[in-house]
Order: sequence, then structure tokens, then C-alpha cells
Amino acid sequence: MSFILHGIGVSSGIAIGHAHLTAPAALEVVHYLIPKNQVSKEIKRLNQAFETVQKEFEALHASTKSGIALPEFSAFLELHHMILNDPTLTDATRDIIAQNHCNAEWALAQQKNALLTQFEAIDDTYLRERKTDVEQVVERILKALLGHPGYRPPSAKHLGDHILVAHDLSPADIMQYKPHQFIAFLTDIGSLTSHTAIVARSLNIPSVVALHYAHQLILEGDTLIVDGNQGVIIVNPDKYVLDEYRLRQSQLELEKQKLQRLKSVKAVTLDGTKIDLHANIELPSDLEQVKESGATGIGLFRSEFLFLNRDNLPDEEEQFEAYRTVVTQMNGMPVTIRTFDLGADKNLKHSSQIAANPALGLRAIRLSLSEPQMFHTQLRAILRASKYGQIKILIPMLSNVAEINQTMHLIEHAKHTLRDENIDYDEHIQIGGMIEIPAAALSLEIFLQKLDFLSIGTNDLIQYTLAIDRVDDNVAHLYDPFHPAIIWLISRIIQTANRAKKPVSICGEMAGDTQFTRLLLGIGLTQFSMYPAQLLNIKNHILQSNLPDIWPLAHKIIRTSSPEKIHTLLTKLNS
Ligand code: PEP
Ligand code: MG
Repeated sequence: MSFILHGIGVSSGIAIGHAHLTAPAALEVVHYLIPKNQVSKEIKRLNQAFETVQKEFEALHASTKSGIALPEFSAFLELHHMILNDPTLTDATRDIIAQNHCNAEWALAQQKNALLTQFEAIDDTYLRERKTDVEQVVERILKALLGHPGYRPPSAKHLGDHILVAHDLSPADIMQYKPHQFIAFLTDIGSLTSHTAIVARSLNIPSVVALHYAHQLILEGDTLIVDGNQGVIIVNPDKYVLDEYRLRQSQLELEKQKLQRLKSVKAVTLDGTKIDLHANIELPSDLEQVKESGATGIGLFRSEFLFLNRDNLPDEEEQFEAYRTVVTQMNGMPVTIRTFDLGADKNLKHSSQIAANPALGLRAIRLSLSEPQMFHTQLRAILRASKYGQIKILIPMLSNVAEINQTMHLIEHAKHTLRDENIDYDEHIQIGGMIEIPAAALSLEIFLQKLDFLSIGTNDLIQYTLAIDRVDDNVAHLYDPFHPAIIWLISRIIQTANRAKKPVSICGEMAGDTQFTRLLLGIGLTQFSMYPAQLLNIKNHILQSNLPDIWPLAHKIIRTSSPEKIHTLLTKLNS
């Protein structure tokens, strides 16, 4: 049966392929009694679930061998395999069913709790942390019992055209799925500027989120059309619709190829104003795309992605190598490394901190200052890499001057330790701050006295100004970059920085949205940083813009308080 689903398109383009479903993350366990004569049948059901998971592990193991999974997977698989076959899990759960005549799910949950209590009492931190692995294995068995498909590597039948359909994906999940080369991502929940969406855009594949029931309605292997521009999914389309979308797909491809001609063209407006177009990256492996985009620098290296999907923290040497790779490959062009912005929706794998409001909690610079040793390691690694090119340090989520002072002090301390060890670094490395919190935007003058440059994180600035959780699908419709308060605030930041003659850029998603290009140019922005795939499109708009023509309308928009009028004026500005 063919049907259509509507969501939010977060990464543009059209993909046509086959669905591959992941299992839902949270599983509920109910309790019921089993008649005495059915107990052996219930134990058999449990044994079958063990076997199913065993087969899943074997399939995953095969995928590591064929090189489509991450290398760390092997060690993790081995451990999970051991847990699955441990009698304290298998025999003990069977005993609970036999003694209490209860259902297998309940028995398994009881035994899991007993094991976790034992783990809590262990002194050895490493062993204690293995309780997460027990939880993950038990979750897999539960999924098998409840009939949910566990994670399987894509079937060979549709290799090369898989579309991942998930209830939800964390940014870390997407990074983990990266090597599987899905051609599109779909999720039930999510929003335009969630980090999941940002990573999907950086992978440059069509993605639609907030589809609500996609994971329930779409079946494994269904043929799907994903229209990332319109946020539409067509499930099992007929031949005519397929032909129509194939045509659109080739038209989009043609447009993309045309833009390639601009790759080495300088980004200059018609009146001769030079604009810097930089790229946002998550990992050094994104550099290939950056080179394709013709970016003249890295405006935002989200360094926290080096910390995700792993059991340990990257040490100084590993971080140094990553930063050095980026700066040497950028060949003299500026590279802005943001210190780790962990917390909120980007957490360390075994993070036990669950805040009531994580976006307002111990995130970004707040976390760095509360973990001085971890921060020191990163600062030393960045400073060491600064010897190899033009590196700048960017501090995320500043809300007050004390945070700047403390950070400066820690940077000085890191420099001092390097000097003591005769290790070279750029003594004049520039230090900038992200303006993402209204308090920072409103007390900018003092920030400007302390910092060398600013970068506006519009994703968070919108979240914190409008009090809209950027990852909450329920309020996604209220996340409004056109809000008069947002436009006024951004113009204030840019104009104040320009007056103070301090460089200012935008590295939030607004920088890569063509609806805002002319407005931002009109306000006085000359540095944009965005996901690489969008850079040539933005350059195309810049090449066709004449600042003196834009100014009057741009200034009118800043002074407008009616949302409808802002839309009308923006349409006029962009026509
Ligand atoms: C932002 O908030 O706009 C930004 C660029 O940072 P991130 O999206 O990583 O929070
Ligand atoms: Mg941010």
C-alpha cells in the first residue's frame, strides 16, 4: 500500500531506496503469571530469544570483518557475547521463571536488577562501568522476546540504497551509522537544529525528522522516496511517482553540478565586498567535503565529536593528531576549534549525569570548567597543534565574564606547562567566544574587551531566547529564526562587534540558510560558517547581491516588530 508521511526536512535532496528499521530504544516490561504446565514453554521462548541475539551478534561480527563497521565494535561485541552466555544471566533467569512461574521478560528484568546491584558494589571502576553493557545485552534480549527487530546490518539485497528508519537517533548514533553508508535518515522525533539534524546535513544525505509514526508504519524493505526539501516521505510509491521523483533527483544533481563551477570563484558581492565562507566540521574525516566546497577556512570544528561513541576519553596525543591533521590539511587557512561542547544532547557514553533540564545544565564551558583536567588536556592539544597553522580557540555557551576569565587563566596555565617542557605553540593564538545566550548578547561590550573574535551560535541563541528546547519535537513549530527578537538580537551583536572592530561570524544553521543571506549581509555580516554541502549555494546568492541595494530594506526589517511584515519584507529582499 502506498502512503505519504509529512515531517520536517532537515537535510535537502531526494533519496530513493529501501527502509532499514532500527529497534525502539525504550522497552516496557510487564509482569504476568504463567500456568504451571506452560513454564517449560516460557523457558523455551527465553532460549529462543537468547539464540536470536546470538545470531545478531554473529551478523554484527561478520560486518566488522567485512569492514563496514567501526573497529572498536569488535571488542565491544566480544564483551556482549560473553555477557549473553554467562550463566548468571542465562541459568539464573531460567530459574526465576521455573520458581516464580512468571513471564520471561519479567524474570530477565529481575535478574538484570540483581546483577546491576552486584556491579554497583564493585570497587574497580572499569568493572563497575560494565553494567551499561549488561543493560544493553538485556535490552537486546528483551527486544527479541517482544518481537522487535534488533539492530541488524543492512541485508545485502538492497546494499547501497538503505534508508535508516528510527524512532530517534542521537548525534552519536548517526556517527555510528556513518560507515554503513545509508542514503537517507528518517526519525519519528527531532527538529531542524537538533545535533542529529546537523550531523545528517554534514553527511550530506537527505533526512526528514518529526515523522511521528514512521517507525511503526514503515516496514523493513519498503520502497521509500525521501524528499528532504519538502519533508515528505512516500512509502511504496507507484511507478509514475517514482519516475517523477527520479526526474527531480536528476534535476537537483544537475543544479549541484552547475554550482561546482563556483568552487574557486571568490565570494564577493556585486559592490566588491569580500565575504569569508567557512565550513563547520565534526571530525577530521569531514575535510574531504570541505575541500569540495571551496571553503576558505574552518569556522567551527565541533571538537566534542572526538569524545562520542567510545568508552574512554581521547588523550592529549590523539586530540593533538586530530587538530594537527585538520590544520595542516587546511594549508594555511584559519581553523577555529571549539572546545568540547558536551552535555545536553551530546553526552559521553557512560555519562551518569541526568539533569532535569540538560540544555540549561552542565554543558559546554560549564562542564569544561568543572572538569579542569579534561579541559587542560584539550587545551594543551589545541595549543600544540597551533604550531602547524592558523588555529583559533572558540569557547562555547558563555554566559558571564567570570567564565571568560577562568578560561583565559586555564589557557595561560596550559601555555605555561608547554613552555616548561619546551614545546612550541602559537603564543598569540586568538581566543573567541560563542554568543549563544541572550545574557551574553546583551552584555556584549564587556565580552568584546576580553575576546579576540565572536561567533554567533544562532541554533542555541534561538533556543535560549525563545525558551524552545531545540531537540523537543513538541515545540519545534515555535522554533522561529524569523522572530523579531531574534533578528534584532543578531543585528545588535553584529553591529556592536563591527563598531568595536572585532571579527564576528555566524556558525549556526542560519548561516547556511539562503533565506537569511541577504538580510545578514545587509546587517553587516562578512563571515559565514556552515555545513560544507551548502556553501556553494550561499556563495551563489552572495555573488548576486549588491549591498547598497540591500541596506535600506535590511534596516527596515530590523526595526519591524510584526512577524508577517518581516516575512513580506524578506521576500522582497530576496526577490
Ligand atoms: C549553535 O548553537 O548555533 C552552534 C553553532 O553550536 P551547536 O549547534 O553545536 O550547539
Ligand atoms: Mg551551540
